[in-house]
Amino acid sequence: LRILIVGAGGREHALAWKLEQSDRVEKIYVAPGNGGTSFGTKTVSLDIKQEDFAALVAFSLKENINLAVIGPEQPLVDGIELPFRKAGIPVFGPSPRAAAMEGSKTFSKDFMDRHSIPTAAYRNFTDHAEAVAYVKSVNHNVVIKASGLAAGKGVIIPETTEEAIAGLNDIMVSKEFGAAGEEVVVEEFLTGQEISILAFSDGYTALALPGAQDHKRIGDGDTGPNTGGMGTYSPAPCATKEVEEEIFKTIVQPTIDGMRKDGIPFVGMLFTGVMLTPTGPKVLEYNVRFGDPETQSLLALLSNDTDLADILIACVERRLDCVKFEMKKEHAVTVVVASQGYPGSYPKGLEITFDELPKNVVVFHAGTSLNAAGKVVTNGGRVLAVTATASTLKEAQALAYEGVKCVHFDGMTYRKDIAYRAFLETEK
Ligand code: ATP
Repeated sequence: LRILIVGAGGREHALAWKLEQSDRVEKIYVAPGNGGTSFGTKTVSLDIKQEDFAALVAFSLKENINLAVIGPEQPLVDGIELPFRKAGIPVFGPSPRAAAMEGSKTFSKDFMDRHSIPTAAYRNFTDHAEAVAYVKSVNHNVVIKASGLAAGKGVIIPETTEEAIAGLNDIMVSKEFGAAGEEVVVEEFLTGQEISILAFSDGYTALALPGAQDHKRIGDGDTGPNTGGMGTYSPAPCATKEVEEEIFKTIVQPTIDGMRKDGIPFVGMLFTGVMLTPTGPKVLEYNVRFGDPETQSLLALLSNDTDLADILIACVERRLDCVKFEMKKEHAVTVVVASQGYPGSYPKGLEITFDELPKNVVVFHAGTSLNAAGKVVTNGGRVLAVTATASTLKEAQALAYEGVKCVHFDGMTYRKDIAYRAFLETEK
């Protein structure tokens, strides 16, 4: 197999890392990739931008690519699957219409409503005055969401009606999120633990991975501003076997079936953000691609005999029900190492050095590149993800932090408490 991975983050490096282990895989190109995707035995970075669909397809035809794997949401929502499909190259990733499940929150809320998939009560608005009248009329707390892609920033959680109105003004009048805020979802505020459920799908069958928990805030104890994600762990104890089964039965499979019935079958990775509320699991959002940094933890937990290439190919060939799939009976912890100043402004181009890593630790690159001298330097906010696996969560956590000590660059920052919520629960 000759595979093209589109994207530049830790998620894409993790995909390349797991795909490299497959005997079926001969070559992996990552476009544009990062400093880490230049070092694999079969993997090379490819200097084509992720938005240049024509160049990506032309390269794939020339190099006989058998499978394109799309990492980030933006190219999927912008329709990257279509030119590949037209060129006869299989894509692991949804069609543009199916990608609307992430690209349009009003679309996904209406979808859930139509298919009776549990989610927060909501109303969609394009008219500012109507939205304001609605938030004044309800007697529960609300969450306000710009419908389109806003890099995780388009969600406002107001504490008062005044704050809610101010949020609507920001999105709908000041147009802080541009076209992403032309439509707005106002939904009921939910409480509970959040969990990410990632499931492979071929449009019929869904194969869900164990629940993972992300850590969105920059600071320990979930304080400070939101980020792209500062760390994950899996399995999360709040997603017990019963809870996972309920999520699969009431959310994941009905979503895959509903999309197929609506004429937008989903092929790819369906990532459902779920809140475990006192009245059962409810969907917060759908993402139509691998999560970052959930993927780093979850791929590290795929058993050594589980071939990721087999799974991805089975999805595009609509025969996921035949695939061999097994998770290690272990725990994974991923700690993201960021640049000083992130998620605000931060320096770039700082040299990174690496000591030898302990066993069962992998360092995935994200915001890194190679400088003219071939040295690995920082090139983004989230720089590296350090993933460790072990037989207990405590050991995996300790090992991940041992791994963090093996990477060095000026001003590196990271959370010291990844997986802490799991211990709060077990200590209760
Ligand atoms: P992401 O960066 O996860 O892709 P997003 O912009 O797509 O974010 P959501 O996942 O819908 O937005 O919401 C972001 C966060 O806001 C959630 O992870 C959750 O913590 C919180 N949130 C969203 N909806 C609700 C809700 N109805 N009740 C309470 N909290 C919510």
